[in-house]
Amino acid sequence: MLELRGINTYYGNIQALRDVSMHIAEGEIVTLIGANGAGKSTTLMTICGGTPPRSGEVLFRGKPIQHLKPNQIVSLGISQVPEGRLIFPDLTVQENLDLGAFLRNDQKGIRQDMDYIFDLFPILAQRRRQTGGTLSGGEQQMLAISRAIMARPSLLLLDEPSLGLAPIIIQQIFSIIEKINADGTTVFLVEQNANQALKIANRAYVMENGRIVMEDTADRLLANPDVQKAYLGM
Ligand code: ATP
Repeated sequence: MLELRGINTYYGNIQALRDVSMHIAEGEIVTLIGANGAGKSTTLMTICGGTPPRSGEVLFRGKPIQHLKPNQIVSLGISQVPEGRLIFPDLTVQENLDLGAFLRNDQKGIRQDMDYIFDLFPILAQRRRQTGGTLSGGEQQMLAISRAIMARPSLLLLDEPSLGLAPIIIQQIFSIIEKINADGTTVFLVEQNANQALKIANRAYVMENGRIVMEDTADRLLANPDVQKAYLGM
C-alpha cells in the first residue's frame, strides 16, 4: 500500500532521515519505534507531505506522492494524527470533527462516520458541545484520532498517541487503534512507547539517528534481547 524507497530528508543542512526504506501492506498495523530525536516524526511528516524528501520516493498504491501537497495526500486517503494532538481548542468537539471532513461532501457517509466515532468514543458524544481545550488529555487524543477518521482514510498515521497519557488511558487508546484497524483501516504508528506499540503491531521498524537499524515482526522484536535492553527497559 505504501512504500518508502531510499528517503533522505533534511532540515536545512541537518540530515534527519538517511536512506530510509520501509513498506506497509494493506490491513497491517506497522509501528516505527526509536528514541527521542531518532527521526520518527520526520518519517511521518515525509509521508504526509509536511517535510518533502530531498531524494527518494514515497509510493502510495504504486504511485509517487512525495511531491504532492498535504491536502492532496489527504484526498488520496492518508490522514495523520499529529504529535501533541493539535486539536482546535476554541472550537467545539463537533466543530473539530466537522473540520476533519472538510474535503468530503457525501453527507450520508459523513453522518455514518460520525456515528461510528461516537460508538468508538462515547465520551465524545457527551462532550459534543464542549470546546476542545476543556477536554482531558486522553479525550483530546480521542478527538484528534476521530478528526483524522472523519477524512475516511484508508491509511491512518499516528504520531505518539500515548504521549503524556496515564497508562490506563494509553491502553484504551491502543485497543481502539486495534479496533479501527480490524474495521479496515491500515495503521502506521510512530511510538516511543515501544512495549505497547509492539503489542498491537504486526510488524515494526527500529530507527536510530535517522536510519532504519532493524525490521521484523512485532512478536520477534518483543522477544529480541537487544530491543528489550534498548527500548523495553528490561
Ligand atoms: P521525538 O520522539 O522526540 O518526536 P523523533 O524520533 O520523532 O523524536 P524527529 O522529530 O523526527 O525525531 O527529529 C529528527 C531530527 O531532526 C532531530 O535531530 C531533530 O532535532 C531534527 N529536527 C526535527 N524537526 C526539525 C526542524 N523543524 N528544524 C530543524 N531540525 C529538526
